[in-house]
Amino acid sequence: MTYTTEKTIAPTAPDAVFERRESEVRSYCRAFPVTFAKAEGSWMSDRDGNRYLDFLAGCGSLNYGHNDPDMRQALIDYIAGDGVAHGLDMHTDAKERFLKAFEERILKPRGLDYVMMFTGPTGANAVEAALKLARLATGRTTVVNFTNGFHGMTLGALATTCNGSKRAGAGVPLNDVATAAFDGYFGDDVDTTAMLDRLLSDPSSGLDHPAAVLVECIQGEGGLNAARADWLRNLERVCRKHDVLLIVDDIQAGCGRSGQYFAFEEAGIEPDMVTQAKSISGFGLPMALTLVKRELDVFKPAQHNGTFRGNNHAFVTGAVALDKFWADDAFAQSVRAKGDIVRRRLAGMAERFGRDGDLSLRGRGLMQGIVFPDGEEAGAVCAEAFARGLIIETSGGHDEVVKILCALTISEEDLAHGLDILEAAIEAVRGGAGLKAAAE
Ligand SMILES: *Cc1c(COP(=O)(O)O)cnc(C)c1O
Repeated sequence: MTYTTEKTIAPTAPDAVFERRESEVRSYCRAFPVTFAKAEGSWMSDRDGNRYLDFLAGCGSLNYGHNDPDMRQALIDYIAGDGVAHGLDMHTDAKERFLKAFEERILKPRGLDYVMMFTGPTGANAVEAALKLARLATGRTTVVNFTNGFHGMTLGALATTCNGSKRAGAGVPLNDVATAAFDGYFGDDVDTTAMLDRLLSDPSSGLDHPAAVLVECIQGEGGLNAARADWLRNLERVCRKHDVLLIVDDIQAGCGRSGQYFAFEEAGIEPDMVTQAKSISGFGLPMALTLVKRELDVFKPAQHNGTFRGNNHAFVTGAVALDKFWADDAFAQSVRAKGDIVRRRLAGMAERFGRDGDLSLRGRGLMQGIVFPDGEEAGAVCAEAFARGLIIETSGGHDEVVKILCALTISEEDLAHGLDILEAAIEAVRGGAGLKAAAE
């Protein structure tokens, strides 16, 4: 395949039915205004046959790429064999296979003894379940979240989500949450867990004894802030000291994205609960789960209910994903190696196009990005990239971070090509301005 970083994409406009019938709330389609028809691995094609390299990967739902051939075949076989498509939360072959694969590939090798709660199929539902369970198990109300955190759009999860525009959509007060400063909020020299420790130690601090803290190890939507391992260990220590549960939201950073299966592994901590969704099915099918320490598994049967708890098709593909990619450490190692490539290339771009160091890097593993002075510029870079055939999006409180979220299975050649396009896009946006600044 030949690669180009030129502006070559000239798609036909999408059918008017989208604008005529689809709600204003639609969003990603506005940034990528084409009609997609096919997808394979790291590539998507539109109806005209234009090909796009996918550095968004369903917002991290496609860690193993589009239509992995082994998952697809297993799913086709399951459907063709009249496998149960929907069975409420009854026992099925597919669920049994998934539970065993998760136990063998993920829990046992890490010495983790969680029970698995299959919630409704969205990440938000896994978060809701964790929040309810933490409150039920402790008899307390307040949950501590962190600046720039993102945990979903249903009201309980939204209360823990910091983005102002999303919060403004709630229509009711978002209560029972106290926000603490994430790692790095006051710069690298400040350990913000010390403030949390102090607040929790002082009976007159104004912070009610919380049920739990809820944290992302790498903030996906909030701008790719990656918590340092030390900070996570300190956070765990503060939680233990004050008898507060630790919930890690691993919905986006999990399933290998960080360079290990769970993003908290690097820090060696052991959360009381972990939420997973996005890439847990491996195939982009809706599925979510909440991992819970046995002693906290206090819901009565059906107390957190749902019609779509456990998607059998997702169990089929999810089990294949676990067997295929997580039988040993080789896959995680390849993710870390690609993460190093991304880091080197982004550092080169920040160096080449930065003006007085105004471009910086964020994130870790294959969840990294480049920070621009404002969202307008970051958005312009993404638009330039799309015109060159790269699907890439922004993240962060001001949409100021161009975020690389490619499939973890991407070839090094495709990865290099996508980074070439990104570099060309930054040059298109910054190059002229840079020359102008130099001339002044
Ligand atoms: C995407 C996401 C959610 C919400 O998942 P949905 O499936 O969109 O409800 C929650 N937490 C994190 C960290 C996420 O990235």
